[in-house]
Amino acid sequence: MAFDTGISKKCPGCAGNLLYDENIRKMICHVCGNIYDPKTMRADGNMAVRDTGASDDTDKRSEFICDNCGAVVVADETTAASFCPFCASPSIIRRRLSHEFKPDYIIPFKVNKDVAKQNVIDFIKTEPKAPRSLLKNKELDKLRGIYVPFWLLKARCHTDVVGSGVTVEDASIRTVYNIDRTIHFTVKNVPFDGSKKIDNLLMDAVEPFDFDELVEYSDNYIPGFYAQRYDESAMDMTARIQSRLYAHARQFGKYAVADEYQEIRVNSDFSDATDFSQSYALLPIWFTSIKYNGQKYDFVVNGQTGKATGELPTDPVKQGLKVVFFKWILPGLVIASFVLGLLLSILAFSIAEEYAFFLLAFALILFFAGFTSVKYFWKWILQKRKDIEFDSATHMDPPPTVEHFIDYKQKIEMDKRDSPGFVTTIGEEGSHDYHVF
Ligand SMILES: [Zn+2]
Ligand SMILES: [Zn+2]
Repeated sequence: MAFDTGISKKCPGCAGNLLYDENIRKMICHVCGNIYDPKTMRADGNMAVRDTGASDDTDKRSEFICDNCGAVVVADETTAASFCPFCASPSIIRRRLSHEFKPDYIIPFKVNKDVAKQNVIDFIKTEPKAPRSLLKNKELDKLRGIYVPFWLLKARCHTDVVGSGVTVEDASIRTVYNIDRTIHFTVKNVPFDGSKKIDNLLMDAVEPFDFDELVEYSDNYIPGFYAQRYDESAMDMTARIQSRLYAHARQFGKYAVADEYQEIRVNSDFSDATDFSQSYALLPIWFTSIKYNGQKYDFVVNGQTGKATGELPTDPVKQGLKVVFFKWILPGLVIASFVLGLLLSILAFSIAEEYAFFLLAFALILFFAGFTSVKYFWKWILQKRKDIEFDSATHMDPPPTVEHFIDYKQKIEMDKRDSPGFVTTIGEEGSHDYHVF
């Protein structure tokens, strides 16, 4: 989210108004996409949709918009989009291909549909609590090959690393060092999906991709598949870029010192990124959506590596007692308190009067307990009953760590201020000698 700092600064590039974006801590021009360091006004890259040039008019492809879910996909005549690849709705509208479609790069599909299907089946089987009925779901036969739009971010990252590292010599001399470094390095091909249709966590989980196989975009890769047009630009996702890129900067602190010490404990509080740029790439994803218990579950398979992932529902029966308690026992107790209260009060009027008072009092307590639960807890109980059915047992993988994205062609600068702290020598009887520097 951007806000106006009050001080109206103009973009040196196009004289548009600059807004401060607190996510990436830069000034952004929303006209041309240039970004600037707020202190020095140094140009720090550009986050706009890069100029795609003119699209060729001989294009045989069209865009299809889904009337049901709003997805925009590109397909050629051989794919003949007759239904939406995301929601399977047949109500799709054809229109002329818009200019900003043309991507810079593409990773072509390597995994075919049968392998993709088998991998989804194997993935479901890894979770013992997943309902087995999913395996026979006919949606598994309808996996759609979609080239999903991604922004591949490149940036110079900066981080300060402080902490301690231990070296061990001859298994007895331990030297503890104070680690203190400032590191600058470049990451490239950090992927951010530019599609609102596909869940970001799902796309994080389907990584890694092997970007050595990235090739220049050509229309020849599209026939037989769908291609989605991006509907989020890098400028629309500075919060996501911030959290991932700056996390990679922090991870690098650990990564960079790991070789030099046997044990490390590091913190890297400060992280920053500059020199942003991005390219637009299509990455291959097999996609299907399965309905279970009235809820939609999306499954995706990496079309390059075959990795399958998704959020799996759990079979309520397989959750055992927890379900029985929340689904039946707890609501049952509430209803029973009313029924029992009613029965007891009827009984109270039909038996000898010395017990009637106690029975009536007890019936009142039961009514009161039932009434209180309904008034204060019924909503919670109903919610709990529902939640339990949709409890998911799988946790999707987080995106890969920084070592997948370091650009070794760019200089890694390390300002190393490590200093020895103290040495411990472990004596024969296990006694410790300290030597403090
Ligand atoms: Zn500008
Ligand atoms: Zn749709």
